[in-house]
Amino acid sequence: MSEKNRLAGEILDHLRFYQRLGVRWLHIGQAHRQLNAPPHQLAVEAVRSAWSPKTSPAGASPVARSFSQHVSMFDALPTAQESLATVREDLGDCRRCKLAPLRKNLVFGSGNPHAELMFVGEAPGAEEDEQGLPFVGRAGQLLTKVIEAIQMRRADVYICNILKCRPPGNRNPESDEIAACEPFLLRQIAAIKPKVICALGTFGAQTLLRSKEPISRLRGQFIDYRGSKLIATFHPAYLLRNPNEKRRVWEDVQKIRDYLLSLRATK
Ligand code: SF4
Repeated sequence: MSEKNRLAGEILDHLRFYQRLGVRWLHIGQAHRQLNAPPHQLAVEAVRSAWSPKTSPAGASPVARSFSQHVSMFDALPTAQESLATVREDLGDCRRCKLAPLRKNLVFGSGNPHAELMFVGEAPGAEEDEQGLPFVGRAGQLLTKVIEAIQMRRADVYICNILKCRPPGNRNPESDEIAACEPFLLRQIAAIKPKVICALGTFGAQTLLRSKEPISRLRGQFIDYRGSKLIATFHPAYLLRNPNEKRRVWEDVQKIRDYLLSLRATK
């Protein structure tokens, strides 16, 4: 096999993987960075020619079509609206990363599929893994109190995590796990279309915002994010260890409440 065909095969394998995850568009200029393939024009040309002229660029395969588009990977989600149920169905009995064999239950998320407010944490813990539901331990009970403090019910909001499976010993998620799982979170966000996304804790905030800043700097400010407003605050588990910080979380969720009230007032 020629070097050109070998490279094309590797790139196509990557593209098919992302296609299975639901990614529909890919910026050709980012392909070599995002997919770890050589930034080599020959390889790109090989991929172009590997797709049948009947299906690329105007035919059935959206990934092939994407090679003639200039839309950034992950910055653009499928144009057709998909439901949360479709995202769940696609996720299936997911084995896309090394956490799959370690979990008891996959924790997709729970709550109102049309929620105005969505909370995104880091990953399931032991209790969540046991029950298959997000935020059900002590931290979850505290989150429920936070939600009720802004006159909402837990059933009104949607709660999920960046990772759907528990990392062993509650260690931090690793980059390959995030790469495999985050597309499903982005599809959840696209399906729900919340007005506000509240990122809980350092890891949730840093991942969503692509930032290395500490949560103490990221929290408390609205940022435009995929058609929603994103605000970060401390994780409820952190509050259990540092109850003095509850005041700052209260400030953050008041901002959320006020913003949602202002939107309703202008309807
Ligand atoms: S963490 Fe996400 S990508 Fe990994 S196995 Fe679980 S659902 Fe799949």
